[in-house]
Amino acid sequence: MARKPLIAGNWKMNLNHLEAIALVQKIAFTLPDKYLEKVDVTVIPPFTDIRSVQTLVDGDKIKLTYGAQDVSAHASGAYTGEISAAMLAKLGCTYVVVGHSERRTLHGETDELVRDKTKAALGHGLTPIVCIGEGLDIREAGNHVAYNVEQLKGSLAGLSADDIAKIVVAYEPVWAIGTGKVASAADAQEVCAAVRSTLAELASPEIAATVRVLYGGSVNAKNVGELIAQPDVDGGLVGGASLKADEFAQLSAIA
Ligand code: PEP
Repeated sequence: MARKPLIAGNWKMNLNHLEAIALVQKIAFTLPDKYLEKVDVTVIPPFTDIRSVQTLVDGDKIKLTYGAQDVSAHASGAYTGEISAAMLAKLGCTYVVVGHSERRTLHGETDELVRDKTKAALGHGLTPIVCIGEGLDIREAGNHVAYNVEQLKGSLAGLSADDIAKIVVAYEPVWAIGTGKVASAADAQEVCAAVRSTLAELASPEIAATVRVLYGGSVNAKNVGELIAQPDVDGGLVGGASLKADEFAQLSAIA
């Protein structure tokens, strides 16, 4: 089953709206449409830049998609500071990242909350990019596969097979995020293959064969080729390198 690779650029809490416009224009200029037939490329700006990105992408001249870095588990109401899935859908978002390790560790997000956010996103037609990943202690103890499988199961608990068919999973070892220490291609493949087997168990082998599983953690233009050549790695969730238009375009073209 051929899966179209996905490269998602997570800008984190960087760039004002003018910088966002400049970056998207530069990526689009550097990455001709012929590449976008082979790879889906999406940018994930802070909430405050989404409208600016939308104005560029809406005209159909720029064939990138965009998404958000988080979403509320709630539909609406007294949740000061939260942004709902309906609001993101109205802004034309395609994707939303849920359960990024920075939200899990810095904001105490549990698997249950990640699951609720995933459901909220699906309920409004957004594609959740569900993040999982182990810390260094777990990797060093050799428990990384079991840990990721459990985290995935907890983050998808209660989802139907049809729901699972609509998600993207991102395996992001915490020790590789923003550190410059990329996982080896074999290490990425080991966990991404375990993710796919788990999806087969939770949904079906047919559905698991269609779901994109990304690797994230210090991906750049030099290492993306080897990572994406792995049979179960279908693209990358890219942080630091997504803020450099030339490198992001280059690594998307390689994918
Ligand atoms: C990320 O933000 O999800 C990420 C993987 O960051 P970086 O590429 O900078 O490691």
